[in-house]
Amino acid sequence: MSDQTIIRFENVTKQYDNDPAVLNDVSFEIERGKFYTLLGPSGCGKTTILRLIAGFISPSKGNIYFNNKKVNEVPANKRQVNTVFQDYALFPHLNVFENVAFGLRIKKLKSEMINQKVIEALKFVNLEGYEKREIKEMSGGQRQRVAIARAIVNEPELILLDEPLSALDLKLRTEMQYELRELQRNLGITFIFVTHDQEEALAMSDEIFVLNNGKIEQSGTPNDIYDEPINRFVADFIGESNIVEGVMVEDYVVRFTGKTFDCVDGGLNPNETVEIVIRPEDLEITSPNVGKLKVKVDSQLFRGVHYEISCYDEDGNEWLVHSTKKAIVGSEIGLNFEPEDIHVMRLGETE
Ligand code: ATP
Repeated sequence: MSDQTIIRFENVTKQYDNDPAVLNDVSFEIERGKFYTLLGPSGCGKTTILRLIAGFISPSKGNIYFNNKKVNEVPANKRQVNTVFQDYALFPHLNVFENVAFGLRIKKLKSEMINQKVIEALKFVNLEGYEKREIKEMSGGQRQRVAIARAIVNEPELILLDEPLSALDLKLRTEMQYELRELQRNLGITFIFVTHDQEEALAMSDEIFVLNNGKIEQSGTPNDIYDEPINRFVADFIGESNIVEGVMVEDYVVRFTGKTFDCVDGGLNPNETVEIVIRPEDLEITSPNVGKLKVKVDSQLFRGVHYEISCYDEDGNEWLVHSTKKAIVGSEIGLNFEPEDIHVMRLGETE
């Protein structure tokens, strides 16, 4: 554990009543000042992790540490944590200023101090001048910012954000992704952000935890997770992938689709059965007699920045290609890729 560790989960299991565990023996560390994302499909346990960190619920087994102190039974109001909920949970009968000031009034701070802190928090989220506005007069994006101002005004060590962008339209959502990321960098407070949107996770995070069925499948930087998915679930969940079965021949040589290719993965057993991932954008279209793979074009969609081309090889494997070049449906083409574009995964591997 480093000095920078703020939260540590040690073999945490959570069961609601007598139902099967929704979190199963989960261990991880959260460091100070970083932007973390919990990413996974609906029901995988993301919100349960946030609620455990916030102190709304306690673990059934295992321990949770906050700054190296065990906090399993410490209630939410005694933790240096603030949560921004999906629906923002703002008070509709209070104006912007009073929504942000709420927690400070409970702490009975002097009104001068409250004034100063609220104005500063609103400045941070670009809402200076909106103090007197009613919540119902604010747009979705502005409400979002009020909710964030209310979280940062208490100067917590940690801010938890539970799908805070899901109610926004795509344009505003992208804008807010930039803003939130920027805000986190400027504040230097640890953010733990929940989403089921993989692009959002890749764009915003320092570290991503990919969750499935109450377990962490893989954790790492967006590049680690995207470039070196540890298993089929992660490869499928993060971006589109072509996944085929293969066999390791020796270090840096792998066999799939009946051919042998150089790759950059070593340390596996010769003859070990593996799964191969190649990203659609790493496949380059060429003529069939030059390409490493020979395929037939089955269908093609124009996606604005690229064509999404679906092809099949002789064994019936589908290969999805993202290409700025157009292909002819029904024609034979070749596909090329580099050794580093081949990602080798062990079967059934988890962290
Ligand atoms: P979503 O993306 O849909 O919000 P999630 O990954 O955040 O999902 P959780 O809300 O953590 O998932 O829920 C995990 C599992 O725990 C689900 O199967 C859910 O039905 C169950 N669950 C959550 N809260 C309770 C509760 N209070 N009592 C019983 N079961 C619960």
